[in-house]
Amino acid sequence: MIRIKDIIRELETIAPRSYQEAYDNSGLLVGNNDTEVKGVLITLDVTEKVVQEAIDRSCNVIIAHHPIIFKGLKSLTGKNYVERTVLMAIKNDVAIYAIHTNLDNVNNGVNKKICDKIGLNQTRILKPKTGLMSKLITFVPPEVKEEVLNALYNAGAGQIGNYKNCSFSSEGTGTFTPSVEANPTIGTNDKPETVKEHRVEVIFPSYLTTGVINSLKAAHPYEEVAYYVSTIENENQEVGSGMIGILENEMEPMFFLELLKNKMNLKCIRHTEFSRKKIKTVAVCGGSGSFLLLAAKAQSADVFITADFKYHEFFDAEGAIIIADIGHYESEVFTKELLHDILSEKFDKFALNLSKIDTNPISYI
Ligand SMILES: [Zn+2]
Repeated sequence: MIRIKDIIRELETIAPRSYQEAYDNSGLLVGNNDTEVKGVLITLDVTEKVVQEAIDRSCNVIIAHHPIIFKGLKSLTGKNYVERTVLMAIKNDVAIYAIHTNLDNVNNGVNKKICDKIGLNQTRILKPKTGLMSKLITFVPPEVKEEVLNALYNAGAGQIGNYKNCSFSSEGTGTFTPSVEANPTIGTNDKPETVKEHRVEVIFPSYLTTGVINSLKAAHPYEEVAYYVSTIENENQEVGSGMIGILENEMEPMFFLELLKNKMNLKCIRHTEFSRKKIKTVAVCGGSGSFLLLAAKAQSADVFITADFKYHEFFDAEGAIIIADIGHYESEVFTKELLHDILSEKFDKFALNLSKIDTNPISYI
């Protein structure tokens, strides 16, 4: 039997919930973690029509990019579409799970999907986040150092970019006096002891702290394990906003925008004036990305593809970059495919459906 929490675990292995922005509300919004999954409907937005579609297609779980409950609910009377949608889901036992900015902020998330659609190479996070990493220092007897390190690696420590099993160790001397109540691995009660130890250092994503410390304690032979954990300010290259990548062949701006229109299935693109430069480096951000314009310029992107640019913000391109506003829905609609790909790799016991409803509130004539 597959439960809702099994799906959540898979999704949050790729996009940990702690990577969502402070203002966000990703997670299980309606329903119970332990409910058996009968069918899943994947959508960008949840509306009443989408809940109806879930019911019609025998799906008791909706996985959405945008959280239908965002600012918080103070009542459930049905006075607006948010309340009506939530009420309808509850009445029909349809669970709603949202995976929003945490899926925006990871290497293989919303923005990677856009990069893949356009055909960008050498993609990396446009604006990596800081303060998401921790460092562990611990002290181990030399003969068990490898064992302890392997336990830490298995818990997710020691990964830096494309390198795994990264650590540093130095030799030194440890001292301790076991109390009369202690049960020491080395030494005698109430007698000062001096031992040769290795000081071992590894870094790891902070959200893994509990698992890393538990693994350390399980693998370490001492009754009391000495260790320090501290948050470090290093950038995490794999977590952050937007992405930047390179086109295989540089293109004239007009040809590039035509290609973009084609690949992303666009009706129109709002863009700033073309510079004389050809397009080679491309920055992207699914959804509202104007906050990343400076980062895109700083990294010498020739074009910045995003959505929700305001009139005055377009002026900030200043001829140094082409802003291409492709629409919020259009920039993120392929997130449905992304979620489908992630889940279909792990689960084949229930139906995984892409919503057929166009939830874009904006129309074009
Ligand atoms: Zn969005």
